[in-house]
Amino acid sequence: MGLLGKKQQCVVCGKELGIIKFRLAKDTYLCADCNLKVGNNVKYIDINTVDIDDLKEKVKQYDDKEKENMNKLSDFNVTKKVERFISIDENKKQWYTSSGATNINQIKIYNFSDVQNFELLEDGETVSKGGLGRAVAGGVLFGGVGAVVGGVTGAKKTNSICSKLQIKITVKDINNPIVYINLINSPTRKDSIIYKTVYNNAQEIMSILQLMTDENKDIQQEKVSTGSTADELKKYKDLLDSGAITEDEYNKVKSKLLGI
Ligand SMILES: [Zn+2]
Repeated sequence: MGLLGKKQQCVVCGKELGIIKFRLAKDTYLCADCNLKVGNNVKYIDINTVDIDDLKEKVKQYDDKEKENMNKLSDFNVTKKVERFISIDENKKQWYTSSGATNINQIKIYNFSDVQNFELLEDGETVSKGGLGRAVAGGVLFGGVGAVVGGVTGAKKTNSICSKLQIKITVKDINNPIVYINLINSPTRKDSIIYKTVYNNAQEIMSILQLMTDENKDIQQEKVSTGSTADELKKYKDLLDSGAITEDEYNKVKSKLLGI
């Protein structure tokens, strides 16, 4: 059987090679899928030292992660969304953005409580911001598109084109603390319908993010007050144990503190 009759296969996944393939060594190729899964960096691999087992392991890790992510996303029940920018599961109190993601492994689900701070950036300048311990300030609070020009830090008044509009979110994730929601990625006239629509989307997302952090604040305050009730009770229990107050007095204080 001649060479021509033999179909070439990917050395990692065994699939038949398509038009796009990556040469690792003589008669040794990686398919386009596997190339993507190992980080799209085969061209930098020294073909004399390429470790096929290492590549196989990387592809396996990618596949495992993808499976795990698929499961998480199928459990995620979208109850609210703003275009492709943000999807929310209000029951689970979780959200994710698929803006900018080119594959499922780039989508990460966050809890409401992961959101710390966030700001709306227009061509790199802060238009409005919000987060834990503060209200949304700037354009969102002070009205619609027209009011934005004079926002918190004063985005360039003269610029009639927006090249980049994004929401930068700081989340509780040490490895990846910044999440961007990309709303506009190419030069867009500010008097266009697209700009106005997307700007309204941005305002809605900012308000949603603020509600998420407000909820965090409420939970934290609840924890603090529950904590202090327990501390108070402990104090009176100690007084009871030391004989400073009677059982009757202790019970009265207890029902008062617990509100029963
Ligand atoms: Zn392959």
